[in-house]
Amino acid sequence: MHAEDMPKSDGIKFPLAAPALTILAACGATDDRAPGTLPHGPDLQTVAARRPPADDADPPPKDGAYRVQLTAEIAVLRERCKGAVPPQQPATARAPDLVEPTQLDPSLKLDVRYATTDNFLSARVYDEARVFLQRPAAEALVRAHESLRSFGMGLLLHDGYRPWRVTKLFWEATPLAQRDFVADPSSGSRHNRGGAIDLSLFDLATGRALFMPSGFDAFTEAAHPEFAGGTPMQRWRRDLLRAAMEAQGFSVYDGEWWHFDHATWQQYPLLDVTFAEIDATRRQSNSK
Ligand SMILES: [Zn+2]
Repeated sequence: MHAEDMPKSDGIKFPLAAPALTILAACGATDDRAPGTLPHGPDLQTVAARRPPADDADPPPKDGAYRVQLTAEIAVLRERCKGAVPPQQPATARAPDLVEPTQLDPSLKLDVRYATTDNFLSARVYDEARVFLQRPAAEALVRAHESLRSFGMGLLLHDGYRPWRVTKLFWEATPLAQRDFVADPSSGSRHNRGGAIDLSLFDLATGRALFMPSGFDAFTEAAHPEFAGGTPMQRWRRDLLRAAMEAQGFSVYDGEWWHFDHATWQQYPLLDVTFAEIDATRRQSNSK
């Protein structure tokens, strides 16, 4: 999901089951890492060497899909969000340059849950199953994908750039008691800048998603990138994904093994263009 903009509280252990605030700009990181992301772990070679013995039993994670009871019908919520305007923001270093990683490397795989009803809202919120990222993040993602090829694995993309209005819709749709799990539209999400990606791994030979210690958007303790449960193979895959991403300039969010921020995320503005509008802008600039 997208509680990723929550700050880490000094001296207080991150509450796995109940993240609290959603502040983006207020907290300072000491390096390129976004607030709330973990320091980099062991490198790819080190993680690769820790591969556990092959496990015939490869059970799916125990946690089921996380669902909220919508505050209103999705059509009503969409209507309510129509006139909403993103927050004012300071100028950023770079102009947006959103691209589809699958256009750079068609062997990347998509599983865009928000374009289906298989997500925490049980409602379709994207018109199209597409994933966009700002160019440096997209290129880094392709390199991470390539680095996993020798392990017989590839990257399975769930979500990248997310229009601000969708973050607003998530907020409006989620009951007050569960809003800790979603980004506050008044500060926005790193997904709104095209600098964050939600992803997992798939098996190159079968095309199937590989099991991790938790499911995507499962808001349980098992979502933590250093959760010690699950099977050894599930934990190894999760650690391998993290090492491959970190080697290319991404950092993992401390509440979600599937969420990574690219080091350039802060250099891009918060955006509210739809996928179709991205296409239209590109056509315009190509015809100039
Ligand atoms: Zn995310």
